[in-house]
Amino acid sequence: MLNQRTVVVDHGGGRIDVMDIDEYAKGVLPYEMSSGWPAEALKAQAVAAKSYALAAGRVYTDTRSQVYGLLRHDDTDAAVDAVRGVLLAHHGQIIMPFFFGHCNGRTRSPSQAGWNPVADRPYLTGVACPCGRTRYYGHGIGMCQRGAQTMAERDGKTFDQILRHYYQGIELLGRDNVPSQPTVRPANAELYVIQRGDTLSAIASRFGTTWQLLHCANRDRIADPNRIEPGWEIVIPREAEEEGEAKVYVVQAGDMLGALARRWGTTVRALVALNSISNPNLIRVGQRLLRP
Ligand SMILES: [Zn+2]
Repeated sequence: MLNQRTVVVDHGGGRIDVMDIDEYAKGVLPYEMSSGWPAEALKAQAVAAKSYALAAGRVYTDTRSQVYGLLRHDDTDAAVDAVRGVLLAHHGQIIMPFFFGHCNGRTRSPSQAGWNPVADRPYLTGVACPCGRTRYYGHGIGMCQRGAQTMAERDGKTFDQILRHYYQGIELLGRDNVPSQPTVRPANAELYVIQRGDTLSAIASRFGTTWQLLHCANRDRIADPNRIEPGWEIVIPREAEEEGEAKVYVVQAGDMLGALARRWGTTVRALVALNSISNPNLIRVGQRLLRP
């Protein structure tokens, strides 16, 4: 099913490629932290960056995801190598570990930061942070990068202690005596079982994506995009729901418009109007809904 050693990277302009997850992380660390930062903070960032990419299903190379570029340093590369195979998970699912520049001494949950409350997770609660800053730089959710630096440098904390502080109750796959399983489902992707008569392009249009992306995300299963078999379980990659997209919700299996309207404190009529929905009894998995 999901391959945990590679990630689909979207460079924009239709240029998509598949990268080894560690090589990808080596291109993120010099931008998301810096060479010269304490090794344990760099290792924490490497684990977070890898988990983020795998949970997202695909990543962009600009600030829509985490920044990726061509700079490489010996110490940032060494940090990635030191945590090979280690990923952040909650109840066995790889999580999307948000991180940011610094906070005001306390991190925030997604809803405290003004995001859609559907983004709240038990491991994304506000915690005390030793970064010593007085205001937020970034959204404030998840790991505070300056706080991680302080925990490593001043308090001698290890990368796993740092991660467990900012993401309460998480598991470290590939550590914790939990093997890094090749079949863990990413929290932010969906699974789809291929039905008789399906084609990759028909599945792609149903989920608002392209057959090329589906092929990339499932290339360990699908060798030839024209040959898919009923019963195969494939991953539908989804983009990270970032701050700018907080008003967009991706419909999940079992969702109904009435329940979503209640959850968001609005009415079915308002959602129907906002989203130009022709039949309120027919919303489909993967459909994007605007919230009022
Ligand atoms: Zn902080």
